[in-house]
Amino acid sequence: MDLSVNLERIKNDIHELAQIGRCRDDRGIYRMAFTDADMEGKRWLKDRIEHAGLEPRTDGAVNVSAELSGATDQARILVGSHIDTVPCAGALDGTLGVIVALECLRCLREQGVVPERTIELIAFSDEEGRFGGMFGSQAVCGQLNPDVLATLSDLDGVLLGDELRRHGFDPLGALDAARDPETIASYLELHIEQGPVLDRGQKSVGIVDEITGLFTWSVNLKGEANHAGTTPMEMRHDAFMGLADFASAIPRILDENGSARSRATIGKAQILPGAANTVPGIVEFSLDVRDTSPETLADLGNAFRKALSAIARRRNLMFEFQQKSYLPPVAADPAIVKRLLRQAERLELTHLQMHSGAAHDAQIMGSMVPVGMIFVPSKNGQSHSPAEWTSWTDIEAGANLMLHSLMDLANG
Ligand SMILES: [Zn+2]
Repeated sequence: MDLSVNLERIKNDIHELAQIGRCRDDRGIYRMAFTDADMEGKRWLKDRIEHAGLEPRTDGAVNVSAELSGATDQARILVGSHIDTVPCAGALDGTLGVIVALECLRCLREQGVVPERTIELIAFSDEEGRFGGMFGSQAVCGQLNPDVLATLSDLDGVLLGDELRRHGFDPLGALDAARDPETIASYLELHIEQGPVLDRGQKSVGIVDEITGLFTWSVNLKGEANHAGTTPMEMRHDAFMGLADFASAIPRILDENGSARSRATIGKAQILPGAANTVPGIVEFSLDVRDTSPETLADLGNAFRKALSAIARRRNLMFEFQQKSYLPPVAADPAIVKRLLRQAERLELTHLQMHSGAAHDAQIMGSMVPVGMIFVPSKNGQSHSPAEWTSWTDIEAGANLMLHSLMDLANG
């Protein structure tokens, strides 16, 4: 039987959900986790699930799910993503993966297909990080504890616990969302690429083999603030020149210690005291470093530390840094990658095996169960903005690849 998804239903769902939390002025979508708009989005999803003849469920982390029962009680296949957004988001990030998963279940149910394994759709809470990110998938993987639940807050100081209570949920309930890994055979996620690779290469789908890990540092270089006119060049302790040296050393450090998948970014910097006629005394800056291998990440960390220390010595500066976050890289399951590639070939889709440079729920799920990811192209590589878009043909291609891959995994 050659099944295919119904693109019109996918279009309708995307358009409908995009109205929830949309701001008229900037056309951006504001469905940050556990805001009223996010909760309305979750209600909309449950409504669509019911409409498809399935039963919506909400767990203690407010993840929304629905299952298509399989013929056996073997471990199930999970498929999903998230519907919360960053502020001023586009219509597809996360949302597309959830809607495609829903369409796959809808399509199988309507054709009367009963897979061997149960297939469960799941929309995870707070992937985007109002309260730190990956909340729903961390809950499912049992990575939360009461202390974390009591202290998580957003940038305005609103406590996650208060926000959950406001919507009628017991914050400790998130601990009950943890699943037994034995009950899950694998997790699949379709997501927009959020980068330019597929669009530029004119490929319809990407099959992810590795999801990048990352560390972020906050670095402080301290020199001495002084008069820009009276302090001779060779007598300065210019903190900004230290940053300039460091920034220009990044390509060499990546060449010598990184891989083709390494990325390093200084995205934020502050010069103090910040006057045009004063030699900078302090610079504070961020460093975001990514790679798909934990060893390479560690090597890069060492190399960056050494470079900072050498530059500080040469420029008469002091330096300190603080690691702000660390997310380990996760490899997709090689057997799943192979199956996805085989399905893409069978469906004659233009495809590319690639890595993910962005973090996803699949990364958290990958710490517990085998995972696989399908990417669809992002027009001009744009995302996290109202300009985010993917052509309907590519969305249809990605959705059909998901449908057939789910059947392949659920029956084999
Ligand atoms: Zn996302």
